[in-house]
Amino acid sequence: MDKMVCKFGGTSLADGNNIRRAAEILLADPARRFAVVSAPGKRFSGDVKVTDLLYASSEECIATGHCGEAFSAIRKRFRSIVEELGLDLDIGRILDETQAGIERERSADFAASRGEYLNARIMAALIGWEFVDAKDIIFFDGRGQFDEARSYPRIASRLEEAGHAVIPGFYGTGADGKIRTFSRGGSDISGSIVARAVNADVYENWTDVSGFLACDPHIVGNPQKIELISFKELRELSYMGANVLHAEAIFPVRKGDIPIKIKNTFRPEDAGTLILPSKKYTPHGNTVTGIAGKKDFTVIFLEKSLMNSEIGFACRALSILERERINFEHMPSGIDTLSLVIESRYLQGGVLERLIAAMREELAPDYIRVSEDIALVATVGHGMAKSIGTSARLFAALSEAGVNVRMIDQGSSELNIIVGIDNADYERGVRAIYHEFFEK
Ligand code: ASP
Repeated sequence: MDKMVCKFGGTSLADGNNIRRAAEILLADPARRFAVVSAPGKRFSGDVKVTDLLYASSEECIATGHCGEAFSAIRKRFRSIVEELGLDLDIGRILDETQAGIERERSADFAASRGEYLNARIMAALIGWEFVDAKDIIFFDGRGQFDEARSYPRIASRLEEAGHAVIPGFYGTGADGKIRTFSRGGSDISGSIVARAVNADVYENWTDVSGFLACDPHIVGNPQKIELISFKELRELSYMGANVLHAEAIFPVRKGDIPIKIKNTFRPEDAGTLILPSKKYTPHGNTVTGIAGKKDFTVIFLEKSLMNSEIGFACRALSILERERINFEHMPSGIDTLSLVIESRYLQGGVLERLIAAMREELAPDYIRVSEDIALVATVGHGMAKSIGTSARLFAALSEAGVNVRMIDQGSSELNIIVGIDNADYERGVRAIYHEFFEK
């Protein structure tokens, strides 16, 4: 029989009612063996996530030595969840221990991890599965990276022994023996790690939307759903802002060739999105699978005659960025030109001016130009490699919409065409590309 790992996000577990719904989903299919849970998220717009309340408790604790005030909102949330579920669980005692733990540890990571911890205890009690603490099976190494070699065998053997289990997402144990969390939204990563460790047939990721859409619904009304997508396509789209899943969550399952299924807790009958490893994926009908983008980039354009024959030019340009600890997104180049595309937020407070001065001095370019307020739009699809004229269609669509293309970068995998356009043209550009590939 298939073996599935199911991760439920914060909105899916925001109150007792939703937790019950998630429990029903878990019990509906015997292949669902292991559940990874987030902390309770927002119940309504304007509500505060439990994780944010916990960070506030940690701050209060660091400032005053106690966290009673901030923790009282957390107590209220968990008490009402347990009440709503009619659970026979001594939540008062567990909450007392949790507060004492936060006051003892005085660590933001420890405090933040408690939302997942408490929710997993509640889910385990509700469905009668074993609670397996992430601190005993997920480990980080001395550099703070996930420690595969230490974690995978432990997860596999511990969960095999349990048969069924609920595991809190978002955290594990650091090399110093203390609780450490992944970055925000990291329960997706925990779920992926567990799926890989137990060699699951599918990693189900239950959230509050019915999968990925071909485009941002705030820009195009009612865009098509993506039913099937490859890991590579998803990587390109989620990197550019299609954020249903944490961008790092694809790596563990991808290495194990395990498909991910994105499902909607509130509409379980919807097909959702199936994300397949390249091996198992055959490009389907559409040339383009999805469009995503982000605003607020800066492009530094360098021109120098005979740049192509100057050994180490690009290397020196990049080492200037490295010195400033700045990441670049893209680096399109021509024979005598090189552009560096950088998120504008990294260039505030005089950083841009310092970079330009260093580049003038160390690279002696003939010309430097800086374009700010640039948006990047990625048009992604395996189908592009096979269909002639995709880029012609894309550029014609943009030009018809009166959008000026400031930069082009086509990845060598022929999976992705990225264009840089003015921030002001962003929505219009995305709409034009969507119309060309999805509405004609
Ligand atoms: N609760 C954590 C957060 O809010 C992790 C997660 O939900 O995935 O970021």
